[in-house]
Amino acid sequence: MTDLHKQLASNIDSIQARITAAALRSGRDPQDISLVAVCKYVTSSLTAALVQAGCLAVGENRPQQLWDKRQALATMPVQWHMIGHLQRNKVKRTIESLALLHSGDSLRLLATVNDAAAAASLRLPVLLQVNISQEANKHGFASEEMAMALPEIAAMEHLDVRGLMTMATLGGGNDQAQRDFAKLRELRDSLQTECPESISLAELSMGMSGDFEVAIEEGATLVRVGSALFEGISRD
Ligand SMILES: *Cc1c(COP(=O)(O)O)cnc(C)c1O
Repeated sequence: MTDLHKQLASNIDSIQARITAAALRSGRDPQDISLVAVCKYVTSSLTAALVQAGCLAVGENRPQQLWDKRQALATMPVQWHMIGHLQRNKVKRTIESLALLHSGDSLRLLATVNDAAAAASLRLPVLLQVNISQEANKHGFASEEMAMALPEIAAMEHLDVRGLMTMATLGGGNDQAQRDFAKLRELRDSLQTECPESISLAELSMGMSGDFEVAIEEGATLVRVGSALFEGISRD
């Protein structure tokens, strides 16, 4: 193994160990939490090295970068996750062989995704992004909109809704992040009672490098970790 591969393997091990510890601390089964490796900062070859090291779920926040890497890594068994805002004119190309769209952030976008999925004869796994922190520059549904939106989303038969996604308040620190994540879980629990049958809210995508442990304590099933995976590694 080269130094790069050693460092990557050691970073992955350490993140997985922290995921396991956070799960056990909060009485959860570590198997119920999946790591999505966010590779938006790094090249295709570094992404390939990460996949080779066992991180098969790769997250990108820009459609173009996802397309380019999907092509570059076409022979590898990658599960592609779209985690950033998706413009409607990029939907068709992005949903090809996408494992999960985390950023279902408006009815308008979801309707476009539903149409494109219908045209491609597939049912696309999606999460509904909620702007828990109510920051003006963030995409996502307002918490109060969700109960009204669910029946409309449930009627979109080519969407396979699996849960909710959020980001903590920017620069808010760990305590604020923990409150934000608790709010997403509480929102999910309250929606659960009236949730249309065709929709699942089982998944909670929350937590990044700085706050994935508190996210796990609050019920995250998917953590999206980028920079911590590449610590000590030159990004080019
Ligand atoms: C970049 C990004 C992440 C990962 O952030 P890190 O702090 O580098 O772990 C997670 N989620 C989204 C939506 C992102 O854009």
